[in-house]
Amino acid sequence: MRIGIFGGTFNPPHLGHKHLAEEIKAKAELDKIIIIPANTPPHKESKELADGFHRMKMCELLFNEDFYEISDLEIKRQGKSYTVDTVSELKKLYPEDELFLIIGTDMLMTFDKWYRYEDILRDVRLCVSVRDDETTVSDLSAFAKDVLKLNSENGEIIIADVEPWICSSTDVREKLSQGIDASELTSLEVFNYVRINLLYESPHVDYKRLLREKLDDYRFLHSLNVAESARTLALMYGGDEEKAYFAGLVHDIMKNATKEEQLQIMKKGDIILTRTEKNNPKLWHAMAGEAYLRTEMGVTDKEILSAVRYHTTGRAGMSLLEKIVYIADYISIERDYPDVDMMRELSAKGLDEAALYALKFSFASLSKKEKLIHTDSVEYYNELIINQTEKEKSL
Ligand code: ATP
Repeated sequence: MRIGIFGGTFNPPHLGHKHLAEEIKAKAELDKIIIIPANTPPHKESKELADGFHRMKMCELLFNEDFYEISDLEIKRQGKSYTVDTVSELKKLYPEDELFLIIGTDMLMTFDKWYRYEDILRDVRLCVSVRDDETTVSDLSAFAKDVLKLNSENGEIIIADVEPWICSSTDVREKLSQGIDASELTSLEVFNYVRINLLYESPHVDYKRLLREKLDDYRFLHSLNVAESARTLALMYGGDEEKAYFAGLVHDIMKNATKEEQLQIMKKGDIILTRTEKNNPKLWHAMAGEAYLRTEMGVTDKEILSAVRYHTTGRAGMSLLEKIVYIADYISIERDYPDVDMMRELSAKGLDEAALYALKFSFASLSKKEKLIHTDSVEYYNELIINQTEKEKSL
């Protein structure tokens, strides 16, 4: 068998890696390729190196065709991942087979600095392709000949003459750290894996970690989804997308806290409960959430704090951001109550229309169960009705 060995940091794996593997597979007529994520790469300093377990999983998602095998050889070996050790282990595993080591331009140009590179070359044939616009195939073959004493013309080194696929893991991480969709640089499956496991993400990653600790799985996903819905509504209605995302993300931060914790943090935040509020613990998480963000997390933005505080009841005189979070909470993607489609439709027509529908929906279900209705909600409802009547009159 002709076996390709493709090692890398794969932090995360991307389409440039896949392109290289596919091109070399065709050029060198390989029967299979073993993908080997490094434990610690000796050739480069890798910032934000995701855990080996996650990089293995992401490689499984990206290199999902049958001719790829994902190996944990280097991760299991721990310590620095020297290719010479990997190659000699593989040589023992596949004594009868031909081994080919797949590398990109940058790796070839420093190959003579690799630990015991001459020993590596005794066991494998190098396969290279260009990965940028600056280096040409003739640069590669000249380097191979002059420095490594390998002749590309007689196949001592295989150089694939292909269009470079300009992309790096650094590019992917940079996009992710700015909260930009990076699915086109890697696969959708890898992108979603990164999102669910909070890898590389820097916008609000500390908050997301905190939320993962404070919330159960359902509530955590709900929070991510409300953040997304809030950002979409902000985009539609000219609001601040960043603030909307953040407020949506943290709106339920105290939802899974005990009643005692909620009361304690409200006390610390100098929140005095009205009689209705005292008798309605279901409302506490919103007030406690505001108090927690203000007293424990140092959030000072009044609009964000109000959006969290009033996300359950609403109130008269809501700001755009408050309305956005209030509605986003009703329409986030995982919601499936009977009227959700109507709510989504209305939210695309106008925030006030959607809020009025939401209030009517909530009054109906609360009064049916003889539950308390907060005066803030009633005042919000009245305000919306008055505005609506005045609007109709002026037409
Ligand atoms: P980083 O940006 O974190 O430095 P990287 O994108 O270079 O990472 P690695 O996992 O370090 O990715 O690369 C593994 C191997 O894949 C190396 O041999 C590298 O030269 C090659 N490679 C990476 N990206 C490409 C690409 N776009 N085209 C061709 N080869 C590539």
